[in-house]
Amino acid sequence: MDLMEKHEKHLEEEMMPEWENCGKVTLVGAGPGDMGLITVRGLEAVRRADCIIYDRLASPEFLRETRTDCEKIYVGKENHHHTLSQEQINELLVQKAHQYKNVVRLKGGDSYVFGRGGEEGIYLKEHKISFSVIPGVSSAIAGAACAGIPVTHRGAASGFRVVTAHGADGLSEIDFSSMKNPKETLVFLMGLGKVEEIAKGLMQAGREGDTPAAVISHAAADRQRTVTGTLKNIAQRTKEAKLTSPALIVVGEVVRLRERLMLPFLEETPFDELKPLAGKHYLVPVIRSLKSPEREKTSAGFFTKTGEKKSLGEMLQRLGAQAEEVVVGQIQTLQCNLSKEMLKEADWMIFSSSNGVAGFFENLYAAGLDSRSLAGSSIAAIGKHTAKELLGYGIRADYISEKQHGEAFAAEISEKAADGACVLYFSAAENSGTIENHLKKCHLITIPVYENKKTEFTCEWKAYDGILITCPSSAVRLFQAHDKKRPVPFVYSIGPYTTNCLKNMGIKEIAEAGEPSYEALCTLLEEEITLITPRMEYAEDIMGYRKEFLEFNPKEDMGGTGNLRDCETAREWVDYVETMHRKETCPPELVDSDIYLGVRRRDKRIVGMIEFRHHIDHPVLGLWGGHIGYCVRPCERQKGYGKQMLRQVLNKCTEAGLNRVMITCDENNTASEKTILSGGGIYEKTVWSDQLSAYMKRFWIEL
Ligand code: SAH
Repeated sequence: MDLMEKHEKHLEEEMMPEWENCGKVTLVGAGPGDMGLITVRGLEAVRRADCIIYDRLASPEFLRETRTDCEKIYVGKENHHHTLSQEQINELLVQKAHQYKNVVRLKGGDSYVFGRGGEEGIYLKEHKISFSVIPGVSSAIAGAACAGIPVTHRGAASGFRVVTAHGADGLSEIDFSSMKNPKETLVFLMGLGKVEEIAKGLMQAGREGDTPAAVISHAAADRQRTVTGTLKNIAQRTKEAKLTSPALIVVGEVVRLRERLMLPFLEETPFDELKPLAGKHYLVPVIRSLKSPEREKTSAGFFTKTGEKKSLGEMLQRLGAQAEEVVVGQIQTLQCNLSKEMLKEADWMIFSSSNGVAGFFENLYAAGLDSRSLAGSSIAAIGKHTAKELLGYGIRADYISEKQHGEAFAAEISEKAADGACVLYFSAAENSGTIENHLKKCHLITIPVYENKKTEFTCEWKAYDGILITCPSSAVRLFQAHDKKRPVPFVYSIGPYTTNCLKNMGIKEIAEAGEPSYEALCTLLEEEITLITPRMEYAEDIMGYRKEFLEFNPKEDMGGTGNLRDCETAREWVDYVETMHRKETCPPELVDSDIYLGVRRRDKRIVGMIEFRHHIDHPVLGLWGGHIGYCVRPCERQKGYGKQMLRQVLNKCTEAGLNRVMITCDENNTASEKTILSGGGIYEKTVWSDQLSAYMKRFWIEL
């Protein structure tokens, strides 16, 4: 027994009799909001928990990390009456510790920073319940850092103070007179509604009116926004910006450092705003699969990681979108009796999904067997995900169908398997019968190893930017629960089977991914816009677009709009674009160019136009490489379409052999500016355009 063990044993002997013989509670700090900002140990505790008691500030994404049988209890929003009181929460912790082995109390930031973690700990200890704390990253420090503000800095602040603005008695508990030191950074939590009073209090106490201040809302989250100013104007600016809670207020010289620590063009802009799906909000019905840590418990531990894939929600979040998941189903293992003899007989084993693989292995291990029992058979997997899952258990499939497509797969297996071959098919409880139909010549035994069970769910049917459907069962369950009074948001489907099912349910407008994968579904969302060479099919909308622009800004000239204005009919313009496209027909005083319509895939509506002039062979302009100009239809602005058109046309520039492109955009078009700069562009100068009577900004991009 080593020293540590001895120590633990001693502790056990010495202390255990004192403690209740029940589970333990872990107070876990979840960090300020972003999944990535929890500690490694904290995440481990969340994954292990039998029961998790959480509040508003802990990101809902953490719940995805919990075990499927973990009881999840929400104990409420701040400032809401219908949630549990602190006393009730304390009592709940005790109660759950008697019910479960591992109870996690998850809180935003750090549990001991205005999180009432101390009270909970004391209560638990008084009730002889063992508890521990896993510290978290407090928003007080991290929130400021996420906005480019260090809470201390040599010369600017020699210390910081974290203060709550949520006193029982308004702000009277705050001792402003002790906050005069200009070298001390002040961080106020829970003070969004009291910015004005706080600023006043500080000025009255003697802090200068021009002391820099910042308010950071939703720090570290996709929705992070920061407003800066001085004690004199910060309240007004915060009000104008309509910031929402949670938010923290930072006061002191360190706020100035933001300008130096953030990239200049990102001022007031969190990095997430640059992500392609920033600001989008999707509904994602999910079927919870047999994922780790359950799987880890049943299988050979370290192998399982390879089989895991990222959830669609996670992928969307990485792209900057907000993904609201509703669990409409749960995969459950079905018990079956596997025997060594039976497996030995098999010439082929067929796996049609990763859940099938997981369900099979769970049964295999339960029967006291392991992967050696598969040694004599050939193994077939539908699709690369299934194959990857198998690999996670140390099994390399002999045949992998390229697509996740039952029909083609079954046909191929039937060619490979000899007549009368013994084939074991590890399937779902409900299956379409495709494999059975194609393998009549074999001795096929279908063994259901998992089931997709419907779960109870509620869905709010908000005005989402879209619903993402990844399998027929989700489609059926979700739309059966559709509240008929609410409009159906636009539907994105993962593939033909799902699309068919959606159509049968009466959904008309559906966009389908290029191939059935999460990646392709994300690409579909990212590239909502496709670039199309103007053609007569779009004549009506082209003229509608022209009319709209003439009313909005008759001088508009960007991205081909100028030429369109000068044409009377769509035909004339389409022909003109065609002339411009070819060097031979391009008028000598002009440079040949490509003009595209940015067309929204789902309704084929024109949302913008983009043009790039080649300039490659031009004696003077050739130095520029190419030149891009674009504009978005007035009523379609602020939806990220400019960003999408630009990204796509830059690819076209590369294809056309341009390696350097100049981009011009309106001086006030900060959205474009951010896109250009984040894509590697460099600001060159601002020029006056007589034509548009406006200043235009110029940028370079090296491709
Ligand atoms: N224990 C938490 C603080 C709880 S008090 C921590 O250590 O971070 C709640 C207050 O914290 C909120 O009113 C707000 O002022 C601040 N806060 C928490 N998360 C925040 C976030 N992501 N962005 C800005 N402020 C946040």
